[in-house]
Amino acid sequence: MSYVITIDGPAGAGKSSISKRLAKELKIKYLDTGAIYRAIALILAKSEIKPDDENFLREALSEIKIELRDNSVLVNDFDVSSEIRTPEVDNLASIYSALPIVREALLHLQKEQKNYGSVVAEGRDVGSVVFPDAEIKFFLTASPQARAKRRYLERIEKGKEADYDEILSAIIQRDEHDSKRDFSPLKIPDNAIFIDSSDMTEDEVLKFILDKIKEVLPK
Ligand code: C5P
Repeated sequence: MSYVITIDGPAGAGKSSISKRLAKELKIKYLDTGAIYRAIALILAKSEIKPDDENFLREALSEIKIELRDNSVLVNDFDVSSEIRTPEVDNLASIYSALPIVREALLHLQKEQKNYGSVVAEGRDVGSVVFPDAEIKFFLTASPQARAKRRYLERIEKGKEADYDEILSAIIQRDEHDSKRDFSPLKIPDNAIFIDSSDMTEDEVLKFILDKIKEVLPK
């Protein structure tokens, strides 16, 4: 039997690392919906299509081809996987993803992923809008300070520059933008299992999720 697991939550809650490890452990597909929004935002911004330019947006969205591979995202056959992981694209994704026209254009691509087998999907509305009938849903969050600290350490480990206060204020701003938008805001989906990971290690979160999955999904 194939099934869908959703993990929603704010920026920096650890969704990506947990979802990837979970998919590996369960030997199922991993769907990073944030990467899709990042890719589309990057290409729209590069094409100088402004968020309020509805006609140009519609035309561009009908022409852009997004392809998901195991560990990469391709836009019009071009791999943008590393280019989409910058603070600038964090911001652009949050702006363009608030537009209904953008969300509608990307909905089918996300939904169809379950046709290829079981999937762990992570994002902001995967449990509420993309897969409302998912077999099991989680909402993973942590305090803004805990999330900013993780992002800060991640950047330092990668040898990149980082300023904790700047990261914290960007996280608070992105939370605000993602939760207050009119269309598909970040919210706790109905029936989702709530996890506050502020004082949990990644291993503890993973174990908690795996235990819940064992309880809910038939063997
Ligand atoms: O998860 P990630 O940080 O990569 O997402 C980047 C941005 O894309 C988020 O801040 C959010 O604005 C948007 N997003 C969304 N819906 C999703 C996934 C991401 O609106 N399902």
